[in-house]
Amino acid sequence: MTEVPTITLNNGVKIPQLGFGVYQIEPADTKKATLDALEVGYRHIDTAEMYGNEKGVGEAVREFGIDRSDVFITSKLNNSFHARDAALKAFEGTLATLDLDYVDLFLIHWPLPMIGDYVETWKAMEEMYAGGKVKAIGVSNFQPEHLQRLFDETGTVPAANQIEVHPYLTNDVVRDFDAKYGIATEAWSPIAQGKVLDDKTIVDIAERVGKSPAQVTLRWHIQRGDIVFPKSVTRSRIEENFALFDFELTDADVSAITALDRGERTGPDPDTFDYVPKG
Ligand code: NAD
Repeated sequence: MTEVPTITLNNGVKIPQLGFGVYQIEPADTKKATLDALEVGYRHIDTAEMYGNEKGVGEAVREFGIDRSDVFITSKLNNSFHARDAALKAFEGTLATLDLDYVDLFLIHWPLPMIGDYVETWKAMEEMYAGGKVKAIGVSNFQPEHLQRLFDETGTVPAANQIEVHPYLTNDVVRDFDAKYGIATEAWSPIAQGKVLDDKTIVDIAERVGKSPAQVTLRWHIQRGDIVFPKSVTRSRIEENFALFDFELTDADVSAITALDRGERTGPDPDTFDYVPKG
């Protein structure tokens, strides 16, 4: 079976560099998709309370019968639970819904800077970590100024920052800031939900190396050192997205793909996103 490299987080915890993302997978389809991913060999699943499908992830892990320590599970705190008590309660809810004793990584899903309460949230994350039911804590969609505020006002540096990164949004300013402070960058929407797959530069490289545009794009992330977890419910694509370790891009290929950056987001801008679900 393919050896997926691991990245060591700033507290020593190891995370597989390639995982399986379950955003926009229907709750009813999540167990099957996650089981497919586990069968193919993925050992890292990325979910969130906001996706409404944590239950299916937990069911798949148990049904697959794998040792809990052999699979890495990430979930994320929803935007409505930034206040301390709400955050602690929501974390217990995530564990109960997954029906697992611990998660490997738990993230603040969005900073919501217009509300500006993420320092309180981070202190609650530190409490969760101290409680031992989460192996590493981190953030998602944090810009450098949000991270700087955490450094200034709290005691720990996040283990990971999960941000939008793909060839049309290389997000190198945030990646460089993460790297400078020992924060692992996780690249969400790594193929821009499919939007980069017709790009001529990527298609030409794919034809030359005999791989698909999705594989070339995911390999670009791997060689840049980011953690990725592409999403698909199609078994053949789940397999395709896992087959990244029998070829290499040249430095020139990596640079050519990086040069496609045009600052184009597929998702919300973290500086202005302020969506808080009701209830
Ligand atoms: P993605 O870039 O992984 O693209 C997924 C889509 O691309 C699929 O729906 C499918 O239509 C298509 N696709 C997948 N594999 C393909 C292939 N081999 N060939 C052709 N098309 C293919 O987008 P995503 O799901 O938005 O991001 C991946 C994961 O990142 C999510 O599932 C989630 O875990 C995470 N994420 C996190 C945040 C956040 O705010 N933290 C936001 C979005 C996504």
